Amino acid sequence: MSVVLKFGGSSVADATCVRRVAEIVRGAAPRSPVVALSAMGKTTDALFAAAQVAERGETEAALKALREIVLKHKKTCAELWEGEPPVDLQQFIDALSTQIDMLLRGVALLRELSPRSRDAIVSFGELLSSQIVAAYLHSRGVSTAWLDVRRVMRTDARFGGAEPQTKDIASLARTELVPLMGAGRVVVTQGYIGSTNEGLTTTLGRGGSDYSASLLGAAILAAEVQIWTDVEGILTADPRMVPEATPIIELSFREAAELAAFGAKVLHPATIQPAVDANIPVTVRHTMRPEGRFSTITAKGGTGSPRPATAIASRSPIQVITIESTRMLAQSGFLGRIFDVFGRLGVSVDVVATAEVSVSLTVEENAPIEAIRKELGAFAHVSVAADRALVALVGERLKHTPGLAARVFGAMATINVEMISMGSNEINLSLVVERKDEAAAVRLLHQALFGNGEAK
Ligand code: ADP
Ligand code: ASP
Ligand code: MG
Repeated sequence: MSVVLKFGGSSVADATCVRRVAEIVRGAAPRSPVVALSAMGKTTDALFAAAQVAERGETEAALKALREIVLKHKKTCAELWEGEPPVDLQQFIDALSTQIDMLLRGVALLRELSPRSRDAIVSFGELLSSQIVAAYLHSRGVSTAWLDVRRVMRTDARFGGAEPQTKDIASLARTELVPLMGAGRVVVTQGYIGSTNEGLTTTLGRGGSDYSASLLGAAILAAEVQIWTDVEGILTADPRMVPEATPIIELSFREAAELAAFGAKVLHPATIQPAVDANIPVTVRHTMRPEGRFSTITAKGGTGSPRPATAIASRSPIQVITIESTRMLAQSGFLGRIFDVFGRLGVSVDVVATAEVSVSLTVEENAPIEAIRKELGAFAHVSVAADRALVALVGERLKHTPGLAARVFGAMATINVEMISMGSNEINLSLVVERKDEAAAVRLLHQALFGNGEAK
């Protein structure tokens, strides 16, 4: 049975990292690995920035930014090979940079950056990193095949956040990917990027390489999808907010999906679904500590654990919309009318709390507030609070833990909680606080629920 290994941007950031990745991949070689790579370090950000500069018509500045990106990759190559990298790798890098150079010039000339051109430009990052890693593995004597994932990762044409076509991906994987695989042989390919039926380059949205990995895993029915990153798995909270957060050894698909959706950046929110559908375990591991702890996500993972909660995630900025109507009491279709408005405007709602005469719900920062106000204002009073944060406590056992709400409220004694909601699947308890209180709320909750180690 095969395995998919995905390495994130920080895992391939420089020559030292790439060497580490090569060792991990070499170790996995007997398991017919498919390696999906992100762009190196901040390359994708830099490509987005170059495209934006080009859009302003600043050709020279955009091309300079591109030269810097190319130079960084060439420096990494020089370090990896301690001198001249293989000629075909150099040729690949040069040919690709000429293409991106032309694209940037085109954008600058027209001063127009379509999502379609942007995807073509940013795909450069993954194409480069995967070529470098494949060439390096090959020179270390590992039998390696490089695959342009656009031959397999079929998507629709929603550039910038394309929808994968799983049936097509499964059949293309059979013809394009599986024949390259074998025990002792490594297939190296890209995360994040895909292609439409017409051969146009697309991307799956920022952070989408995790999603690519699980889509590939599902397509080849891999035994495991490994997400290699810069932390020892999914932690009980974002380590940048809670430095004492610890890895969760086992968690369920539902918990991981919920954490990702509520802001835990460690996994792209869509990652889990293909793995759930194919019942493939996903592990999250630390590239610099391959022998260390890691998280395993499975259908039933952690459900037998007595921990009252599994982890805390948070997301900001969000906005809270409160809709009030004294007529609501008597109207059975009131909620229907409200959601009809959100549905028609294509606005996704994350958390809802209802009271007798009012409904509060949370939407993204960029939701079309004026349009929402106008439509809802026709039959109710609408108020909007911006700069809010959503803090979510996630765990399969939340609903089975008596006194949990008291502990949560106790922890929030000094914080003004504006809204509270227990998800309908009952594995998440969400709070809305002012954005300035987000970090404190997460820390206090973590202290109250995980401080003594019982929930690990
Ligand atoms: P990669 O480049 O490997 O895809 P990301 O930066 O996308 O890595 O995700 C890893 C980062 O996610 C960690 O460095 C950490 O700062 C952040 N993170 C946020 N919440 C969590 C969490 N609950 N557990 C682990 N990491 C988290
Ligand atoms: N390189 C892409 C990004 O930075 C995809 C990824 O890393 O997952 O968003
Ligand atoms: Mg990521």
